[in-house]
Amino acid sequence: MNHLRTLMAKSFDYIVIGGGSGGLGSARRAATLGANVMVIEHKRLGGTCVNVGCVPKKVMFNAAVHAEYLKDHEGYCFEVQDKGYAFNWNAMKQKRDAYVKRLNDIYYANLERDKVTLVRGEAKFTGPKEVTVNGEKYTAEHILVATGGHPKMDANIVGIEHAISSDGFFELEKQPKNVVVVGAGYIAVELSGIFNALGSKVNLLIRGKTVLRRFDSMIGEALTEELKSSGVNLISDCGVREITKEGETMTVHLGCSGGDNKIAGVDCVLYAIGREPNTSNIGLDVAGVKVRPSGHIVVDEFQNTSTSGIYALGDVCGKAELTPVAIAAGRKLAHRLFDKQSNLRLDYENIPSVVFSHPPIGSIGITEKEAIDKHGSENVKIYKTEFLPMYYQMVSHKSRMKMKLVCVGPTEKVVGLHMIGLGADEMLQGFGVAVKMGATKKDFDSCVAIHPTQSEEFVTMR
Ligand code: FAD
Ligand code: NDP
Repeated sequence: MNHLRTLMAKSFDYIVIGGGSGGLGSARRAATLGANVMVIEHKRLGGTCVNVGCVPKKVMFNAAVHAEYLKDHEGYCFEVQDKGYAFNWNAMKQKRDAYVKRLNDIYYANLERDKVTLVRGEAKFTGPKEVTVNGEKYTAEHILVATGGHPKMDANIVGIEHAISSDGFFELEKQPKNVVVVGAGYIAVELSGIFNALGSKVNLLIRGKTVLRRFDSMIGEALTEELKSSGVNLISDCGVREITKEGETMTVHLGCSGGDNKIAGVDCVLYAIGREPNTSNIGLDVAGVKVRPSGHIVVDEFQNTSTSGIYALGDVCGKAELTPVAIAAGRKLAHRLFDKQSNLRLDYENIPSVVFSHPPIGSIGITEKEAIDKHGSENVKIYKTEFLPMYYQMVSHKSRMKMKLVCVGPTEKVVGLHMIGLGADEMLQGFGVAVKMGATKKDFDSCVAIHPTQSEEFVTMR
């Protein structure tokens, strides 16, 4: 049916390039507002998040959480009566792939239901208002570029072809035994935590002294310690010089501040050093759309590019590369273009974010350092707490919870909220609403605590 519509219609109100989080969010909303919409996608519907990002990652995170709870069974007086459990990576992969496939089908059905035309193929601008796919030309008054990004690999490393990215992680048919992860951001710490909890030996190479250096220092330092204490071989101030392959295994040759070294017998090298935008091959120059030296598309606060009638959002713009950000920006753009809400735009301030590390991290607003740089130390008040959640009183493995509120001015407005520890992932959303509304420390304190929980500490800090 979609195919038939495609053959007949060449001109649309709105063409969306990229059927990922942002593109689909915008296209479907525009269609429900009455626009005649076409989406172009050359891979699987759902984009990075559904196919090689949030969704399959969270399934693996859940599996890893299971592995951790299994270790705690005895602490909670479950007597181990058999040989215990073994994790079947391949079975998990098949179940996970089947789930992702179901989501791909649901996304397809949603487009059908909303009467959005889907064209399968690679889109390229052949004019400011014209896009070509599979040799067919399509025009629209409004065109959105939501082409996302792809993993960055370090081409300077000899033997980099032996390494995989996060995309390759989701293709692994069997569990590697000895992994080297390179990187210090979201993906490096999330995938290291998953591998480690599921029983792979993990060597995490970071260039600096801690992971997550862009987060509040309390977070980066705490997770670095947690990774070490959970058995990850975290090697700091270190980089890869070369990767060599000998039969089935590899050797990673290191250049570290304390001297050169190597890790042998490695069966998986995974690079997670950031992502690059998908902008090099879509004819942006023909359309007159400006990009930064990094390749990210230049947009204003309304997602307008340098060419009138062409918009961009999501990872391709490189600002807050998160699925809900792309979706929210896409929906708001649809309302601006097709619902006469001419001032509607996404507010990029105070976007909450969770790192699904072990333990998880929740963070919103600015760091302590950013607050001091912006407001001066005399205007910044920090509230901190650190404790062992009650859960760990019964088990041998201990993981402390750390929380911080960054407050400014005489009213002690909460401008930053950061936490690491059990449950932080599910705790943030509600506190995010409070921070977004401009809550002060007094507002936090006015809310009666829920006992016994970890989150109650945020309303009882002194
Ligand atoms: P995408 O979702 O990448 O969609 C872009 C689409 O455009 C793709 O489907 C692509 O095939 C298509 N495309 C590209 N070029 C063309 C072309 N020329 N013609 C046609 N189609 C084209 N975010 C979170 O919020 N929470 C998480 O837990 C999380 N985990 C992640 C884990 C990993 C391993 C990764 C890699 C990312 C994760 N993210 C997470 C980030 C999130 O996936 C992205 O921010 C989000 O997918 C960006 O949406 P987008 O619409 O900008 O791009
Ligand atoms: P990030 O930008 O989060 O982190 C990459 C880090 O790798 C850098 O901060 C840097 O840390 C390090 N690095 C960069 N270049 C090199 C290099 N050449 N060698 C060694 N280390 C290097 O990127 P990710 O790839 O982890 O993730 C991409 C984005 O995807 C994230 O920023 C996030 O927006 C999104 N994402 C979100 C998730 C979530 O919401 N839970 C999960 C996964 C991804 P340093 O400078 O300290 O060395």
